Amino acid sequence: MVLDSETKPSKYERFRIETEPAPHVFQIPNRFDVSARKVRLAAMLVHEAFEFKLNKEVVLSRPCIYGVFGGHFGGFKPLKHKCVGCMRCVQEYPHIMTVKQSDEYKRLGDSFWTPEAVFTILNEASTGKIPVKGMGYKGAFGGEGFDGIWTDMSEIVRPTRDGVYGREYISTCVDIGRKPTSVDFGRIDQSPSTVEVPVPIIFDDLPAFDFDVWNAVGKAARKVGTFFVTHDQTRGEDYRERMIPIVDDNSLDETLEKRPSIVEYDSERSDLFEKLSDSLPSSIVIARVPLREDTADRACKLAREGVHGLHLYADYHGQDYSGDPRHISESVKEVHQLLVKEGLRDQVTIIASGGITLAEHVPKAIICGADLVGIDTTVLVALQAEFLGETRDRNSYKLRPRKIDPAWGAQRLVNLFGVWHDQLIEILSAMGMRDVRRLRGDIGRSMMDAELREQSFKGIAWAT
Ligand code: SF4
Repeated sequence: MVLDSETKPSKYERFRIETEPAPHVFQIPNRFDVSARKVRLAAMLVHEAFEFKLNKEVVLSRPCIYGVFGGHFGGFKPLKHKCVGCMRCVQEYPHIMTVKQSDEYKRLGDSFWTPEAVFTILNEASTGKIPVKGMGYKGAFGGEGFDGIWTDMSEIVRPTRDGVYGREYISTCVDIGRKPTSVDFGRIDQSPSTVEVPVPIIFDDLPAFDFDVWNAVGKAARKVGTFFVTHDQTRGEDYRERMIPIVDDNSLDETLEKRPSIVEYDSERSDLFEKLSDSLPSSIVIARVPLREDTADRACKLAREGVHGLHLYADYHGQDYSGDPRHISESVKEVHQLLVKEGLRDQVTIIASGGITLAEHVPKAIICGADLVGIDTTVLVALQAEFLGETRDRNSYKLRPRKIDPAWGAQRLVNLFGVWHDQLIEILSAMGMRDVRRLRGDIGRSMMDAELREQSFKGIAWAT
């Protein structure tokens, strides 16, 4: 709620991300391969031609309401790109029609990025609309990683919290920075103030950062009001106010001169933290920490040393760097819970990156203890980058960006943020929450597939 002045009445300002279509520039594969047995189709058409009194439009378009058979040659040359896989044609004419996933579609992505995930991101970025799957969900209800976490939506009937179009405002703002733990009236506080972002998502350092992609990310960050993390500060002054530089020895002097509001550094370099916090007293200093077995202890140590935030990262498949890799959700939860136990959690902001590839991963990562998330390969997928192989390792990715128009790229990324923001609000409303900050670490409002299986089946021998 914003109070304009003493004379004006207060009014609500609802945060919105304006989306608009940004169609694919590079052709994407058809999702479904539609084919008909031609002799049987011809026989059926002759029969229907009489039944529908030679009405060509009706005869050639039935039974697909999506217009797959509406081309010049009807079912003999179906317009496959229009097929949504509703299977109506197969149900009505099983002896004629076959619909299956196309081979090109099945080749999308890598072992982590499923074709469906790639398609979802491409379409969210293109349309700015929440994907609607009207056929009912036919897949599994549990799985690995984020698929093994369910959110408690028992508050879904609350009338005032009805999602994107609800009357009650649901805040998705989060703060980055260290919060004061006490008030000292005797001295002026020198610590940097926190920075608010309207959505709990930032752009993480990208594996392939060509200039047009850099421009698109900067434009989108400015429009949405979020930040982007980058190793490279040499691409000009544009969008500097939205940039979170990762500082190393080469870029230290430039960073000190430019005085960004937020900086990141490699957590192994404690000397860099001292230099940054001494020279930039009004900047928020965040340690980048790879998730490993010992990260929880390390996070407590860094919090005690005075860092303002921890950027915890896994690889691009969401697996941490432990000897026996775990999913980022487990590693972040461990760090969060130890910080809570040690009374340090409110002193640092946690950003989680790696494997955040779908809208529902954002609230799930926050439930596990993150304040906000960073997205990486998802950005390049939205910009129609090409998978050339496994893209797991942060140093040897196989995701090649294409030549893009920065304005088009920025709109696709704004669309992605808009759609993810809407889906976050839907989840918060269904959970009866008015503020995403309340979701942080609220494990009690989630169910873990692995834990439920353990509780349900512990001690029961499996038949072999
Ligand atoms: S599956 Fe549905 S959308 Fe696809 S061709 Fe058949 S009727 Fe049309």
